[in-house]
Amino acid sequence: MLTWLLIFIVTIGSAAYFRLPQIIWSGALGLVLFLFTFSGIANLPSLVIIWALFLLVVVPINLPHIRQKYISEPLLDFMRNAMPNISQTEQEALDAGKTWWEADLFSGKPDYSKIRDLPPSKLSDDEKAFLDGPVEELCAMLDDWKITQEDYDLPKPVWDFLKQHKFFAMIIPKSYGGLEFSALGHSSVVMKVTGRSITAAVTIMVPNSLGPGELLMHYGTEQQKDYYLPRLSSGEEIPCFGLTGPENGSDAGAMSDSGIVCRDSFNGEDNVLGIRLNWEKRYITLGPVATVLGLAFKLYDPEHILGDKEDIGITLALIKTDTQGIDIGNRHFASNHMFMNGPNRGKDVFIPLDWVIGGEDYIGKGWTMLMNCLSDGRAISLPALSTGAGKNMARYTGAYARIRKQFKTPIGYFEGVEEALAEIAGNSYIMNATRELTLAGLDSGESPSVISGIVKYQMTERMRNVVNHAMDIHGGHGICLGPKNFLGRAYQGIPISITVEGANILTRSMIVFGQGALRSHPFLLKEVEAVKHPDREVSINLFDDALFGHVGFIISNFFRSLWLGLSGARFISAPGKGKVNYYYKQLTRMSSAFALLSDACVLILGGSLKRKEKLSGRLADALSNMYLITALLKHYEDQGNQAEDLPLLQWACEDSLFKTQEAMKSVLRNFPVPVVGNILNMVIFPLTKPYGGANDKLGHKVARLLLTPSPTRDRLTKGIYLTDDPDDAMGRLEHALNKALEAEDAERKLRDAIRIGLIKAKDFDSAIRDAIGQSIINQDEADKITAAHTATLNAISVDEFSHTGWKPQ
Ligand SMILES: Cc1cc2nc3c(=O)[nH]c(=O)nc-3n(C[C@H](O)[C@H](O)[C@H](O)COP(=O)(O)OP(=O)(O)OC[C@H]3O[C@@H](n4cnc5c(N)ncnc54)[C@H](O)[C@@H]3O)c2cc1C
Repeated sequence: MLTWLLIFIVTIGSAAYFRLPQIIWSGALGLVLFLFTFSGIANLPSLVIIWALFLLVVVPINLPHIRQKYISEPLLDFMRNAMPNISQTEQEALDAGKTWWEADLFSGKPDYSKIRDLPPSKLSDDEKAFLDGPVEELCAMLDDWKITQEDYDLPKPVWDFLKQHKFFAMIIPKSYGGLEFSALGHSSVVMKVTGRSITAAVTIMVPNSLGPGELLMHYGTEQQKDYYLPRLSSGEEIPCFGLTGPENGSDAGAMSDSGIVCRDSFNGEDNVLGIRLNWEKRYITLGPVATVLGLAFKLYDPEHILGDKEDIGITLALIKTDTQGIDIGNRHFASNHMFMNGPNRGKDVFIPLDWVIGGEDYIGKGWTMLMNCLSDGRAISLPALSTGAGKNMARYTGAYARIRKQFKTPIGYFEGVEEALAEIAGNSYIMNATRELTLAGLDSGESPSVISGIVKYQMTERMRNVVNHAMDIHGGHGICLGPKNFLGRAYQGIPISITVEGANILTRSMIVFGQGALRSHPFLLKEVEAVKHPDREVSINLFDDALFGHVGFIISNFFRSLWLGLSGARFISAPGKGKVNYYYKQLTRMSSAFALLSDACVLILGGSLKRKEKLSGRLADALSNMYLITALLKHYEDQGNQAEDLPLLQWACEDSLFKTQEAMKSVLRNFPVPVVGNILNMVIFPLTKPYGGANDKLGHKVARLLLTPSPTRDRLTKGIYLTDDPDDAMGRLEHALNKALEAEDAERKLRDAIRIGLIKAKDFDSAIRDAIGQSIINQDEADKITAAHTATLNAISVDEFSHTGWKPQ
C-alpha cells in the first residue's frame, strides 16, 4: 500500500515539477489508478471512493465549460466583490515601465539563457573619448573641499566646462545637439565624477535624469523639442524639475499645487488660453539656478473651457523661471553638499496652454508620464553614484588599511578590520555587477520599473554599508574634515541618495514587492484584468484560464520547492561550471521557493498585503537578492571566469543567498496563519537552513584582495578616477601604498635586525643609518624605506585649522 501511495505522489509530483499539461498528468494519474485497481490491494468500496474522488477532480479540470460554470464563475463573482479598488494613481504606476528578469524570478523556473545571451553593454568610441578627455579633465579640476566649504558652489570655470562639454545633455539625441550616450556611457560619467565631488556628480545627474530633457524627448511637441532641446544641450537653459512640496513627499501625487484653466493676456496678446498656477515646491535640485522649471501640478477646469471634466489631473508644464509671479533662488543646505537645491513658489502665474509638456494632448497625464520616465533614470544615476562610492572606498580604504600600522602591523591584517574590508570588497563587487546587468538591460531596450526600484534601494543601502565600514577603518582620519579628507562628504551624502527618487523604506516595503507581485507574477495581473473586464463572457474565459494556470503553478512550485530542498538542487540542469553552476542551481531553488511563498502570501492576505509592509519588505529583500545573484553570475562569466576573482563571486553569492534565505525565513516565522507558515517552512527548507553566508576564510581572501595592487583590484575599481598624486586626498594613499610595497623587502630586513637586537637605535633616522652602517640594507633600500615612511606620514596626516577663520594651516 505504501509503495502505491509513493507511486501516486511521485506521479503527481513529477507532473507538477515538469509543469506538464493537465491532460497529460490526469492521464498519468488515471493509468496509475488503473494499475492499482487490478493489483488486488484495495477492496471494492475503497476503489469506488478513490475513483470517485479522482473523477471529481479530473473531469472538471479537463472540461472547461464544466469548470467554468461550477468553479470559475462563482469565484469570479466573489472576486468582483472582494477585490480592493486600485486607485488611478496606483494603476498608472502599475502600467508604467515593463517587466524583465524579475518576471523570471517570479516564475520559479528562470530561463538563464535570457540573461546569459544578453550582450554586455560596451562603451562607444565617443563615450570612451569623453571619459578619457573631458571627464578626466573635470575630475582633475574638482576641489571638493573648496566647493563645499569655501565657495558653497561649483566654481564658475567648472560650470562653464560642464556646459561647454555638454555634460547636461548626455541623454539628448545628437540631432538636437546632445551627446546621445548609452545608459552605460551616462552611468560611467556619473560614476567617475562621484569620487571627486558628489556636488558635481549630482549637478550632472539631475538634468540627465527625470526632468525636462527626458520628458520632452518622450512627450514634447515638435515645437517644444525644437526650441528647448538644443538650448538644454548647449547649457543655455538650465533645467530643474519640481514635484515635491511641503505636503507631498513620498506621496508625490498628494500635492496641493494647482492650475486653473482660464484666458488672460500674455506677452501683449489678449485672450490667450492658458493656466493660472499657484504652487509651493521644495528640495528642488538645480532650482536656484534653473532657467526652465518642469512643474507638476493638479489641473482644474471649473469653467469647462476645455471640456466636461472639471478635475483634469496631474499635469506637467515647462515654465521659464523669469515668468512673472515666480519666486525662485533661495537655497537649502543639503547635508553639506553644495549642489544647487532650493524651494520655489508661484503666485497666480499665468502660462499659455502650449507650455504644457506635450501640449493639450497630455493635459492630465502627468502621473503616467512621470512613472514612465522614472524607472530609467532611477536605474542609472543613483546606482552609478553608489557604485562609484563603493569602488573608491574599496581602492583607497584598502590602500589605507595596508599602510596604516598599529601594534606594528598594517591594520588590514587584523581580523576585525578584515571583516569590514570584506564587506567593502564584496559589496562593491555586487554593486558593479548589478550596475552592469541593469545597464545591459536598459541598453537593449528594457525599461524595468520593478528592477529600477530594486537597484535604487540595494545600491544606495550597500553604499551606506561600504561608506560606514570605510569610516570605521579610517577612524580619526575619516572624521577630521578638510582638503585631505575624501570620506567625510561621502558619509554626509548618504542620506541624500537614500531619500531621493523614492525614499528607501518606502521603496523596499511598499514598491518593490507590491508592484513586482502584480506586474511580474505570471497569473496575478491576468486574474485582476479578467475580473475588471466589462464583458462578462470574456471575463469568465480570461479568469478561468488564469485561475487554472495559477492553480497548476502553485502545485508545481510546491513540488519543485520540496524536491529542490530535499535534493539541494543537485540534480537539475543549470549553466556554467563549478561554483557558477552551483550558484545557478541554488538560484533556481530559491526562485521556486519564492514563487510558492509569494503566492501563499497573496492568497492569504489578498489586498491587505499592501498594508503588511514588513512582510512585503522581506519578500522584496528575497527578490532583490536573487536579482543580485543573477547579476553576479553574469558579471563573472562576462569577465571571462577570472579564477582570481572567484573569492569575490563566492563571497557575494553566499552573502546574497543567505540574505534571500533569511528574508524568506522571516516571512515564514511571521506568517499570518502560523500553521501554513510551518508547513511552508517544511516544504521550502526541509533539511534545516542551507546557506550560512560567506565564511571567515572567504572573508580573509576577499579582504586581502584590497591590500595589494593586482588585476583583480583593478577590475573591481575600474572606471573611477585614478591618481597617485601625493598632494591629492586619495592619490596620497595610492602613492603611499606603492612606496610601501616597493620598500617591503628592505623593511623586512630592517625589522628582523631590530627584532634580534642588531639595531638598537630608537628613532627612524638613526635606525636607517645603523642598518646601512652594518650593511643590513644598502643605500637604495634605505631610500625606499625612507620614501615609504615619508609617503605614509603624508597619507595618514589630517588637516589642521587655526582658531579663527577655519583656514587650513
Ligand atoms: C537633496 C534632495 C534633492 C531633491 N531633489 C528633488 C528634485 O529635484 N525634485 C523634486 O521634485 N524633489 C526632490 N527631492 C525630494 C525627494 O524626492 C523627497 O525628499 C522624497 O520623495 C521623500 O519625501 P520627504 O523628504 O518629504 O519624506 P517623507 O515622504 O515625509 O518620508 C519620510 C519617511 O517615511 C517613509 N515613508 C513614507 N511613506 C511611506 C510608506 N507608505 N511606507 C513606508 N515608508 C514610508 C519614507 O521612506 C521616509 O523614510 C529632493 C530631496 C532631497 C533631500
